[in-house]
Amino acid sequence: MKQIYLDYNSTSPLDMRVLEVMMPYLTDKYGNASSVHHFGREAKTALERSREQVAETLGAEPSEIYFTSSGTESDNLALKGAAYYLQKKRNHVIVSSIEHHAVLMAAKALQKEGFMVDHLSVDREGRVSPDELREKLNDQTAIVSVMHANNEVGTIQEIAALSAIARERGVLFHCDAVQSVGKIPVNVDDLGVDLLALSGHKLCGPKGAGVLYIRSGVKITPLLQGGHHEKRRRPGTENIPAIVGLGEALRLAEGMREEEHARLAELSDHFINAIQTQIPHVYLNGPRHDERIPSTFNMSFAFIEGESIILSLDLKGVAVASGSACTSGSLDPSHVLLAMDVPTELAQGSIRFSPGRFTTREDLDYTVSVLPEIVERLRSMSPLYHGTG
Ligand SMILES: *Cc1c(COP(=O)(O)O)cnc(C)c1O
Repeated sequence: MKQIYLDYNSTSPLDMRVLEVMMPYLTDKYGNASSVHHFGREAKTALERSREQVAETLGAEPSEIYFTSSGTESDNLALKGAAYYLQKKRNHVIVSSIEHHAVLMAAKALQKEGFMVDHLSVDREGRVSPDELREKLNDQTAIVSVMHANNEVGTIQEIAALSAIARERGVLFHCDAVQSVGKIPVNVDDLGVDLLALSGHKLCGPKGAGVLYIRSGVKITPLLQGGHHEKRRRPGTENIPAIVGLGEALRLAEGMREEEHARLAELSDHFINAIQTQIPHVYLNGPRHDERIPSTFNMSFAFIEGESIILSLDLKGVAVASGSACTSGSLDPSHVLLAMDVPTELAQGSIRFSPGRFTTREDLDYTVSVLPEIVERLRSMSPLYHGTG
């Protein structure tokens, strides 16, 4: 059976070119980057080369790049690290209501510890309002966190406009750029951010490496105590193979960014049109064009549950996600779709398609060829559908 992977936003396949540069560090070059002998120096050189690659892509200085284990860790370190550091002076945190759970749950943990947490609402297409941010900021606000591109619906935020508002008030701005890096331009100065998170495995790189950019001069309290690694802000022996892979993955993604953007935009548009032509009562959640990552699109199929569509597609070899990968397995509708005012029934009937580097036109054509029958069959069993079709 064909195997078609349309779930790149959950994780992406490792590019073989990335594996190739990682291989020596998984085998012969196993040194600890803190050791002074040649094994250590070899590892240290690789670590610093990767740091330079990341810095160059983001328009940052190498000294502002910190390696972590994941996007989740980077988000936690940004939010909690900054909040703890400022705790005595400021105890208010603002996050958007459509953040990834890595940010939302970090904010919730801060709330339990006594911080005040406010959530920014979004419009029907998932956009945060600068006016609302202006209203919610106060003299106690320590940090604002708004993601660059949403992982469920693909909405791209006006980060530069939002960060400027926070800056005017002397408030730190964190941006989760896990889903935008390598897909659209991400430059820390253009975005005006103080902190920014990314993750290797969303870029056809390996799992187990993430980055937190920390603008020079910004202070955070580390979440872990240990050795001198990453200037004590993130102690723990560096995962050299994964970090080398992340650097190369980012370099490759950046090199093919514009080309891939155009290719995936064309494929995705074609796919969305074909689905909407062939299947009635299907809605695109999120912006139609430009303000969305083209390779992330979320569609609601009225009268049925997203989970049933996933299982049926899986039987045909097609891998997709429902509303949020993190809530898969439960029927709780996605917090992102609810925040966008998508009615609960439609939120429950939503599917996220996220094609990527190795997705072909044939993959999407095959998916379009099997989907109408699946939807029709599931609807025919749905009591909600009677008298409508
Ligand atoms: C995947 C993802 C994360 C978490 O990254 P991990 O490396 O999987 O921990 C954070 N934010 C967004 C937007 C993501 O898509």
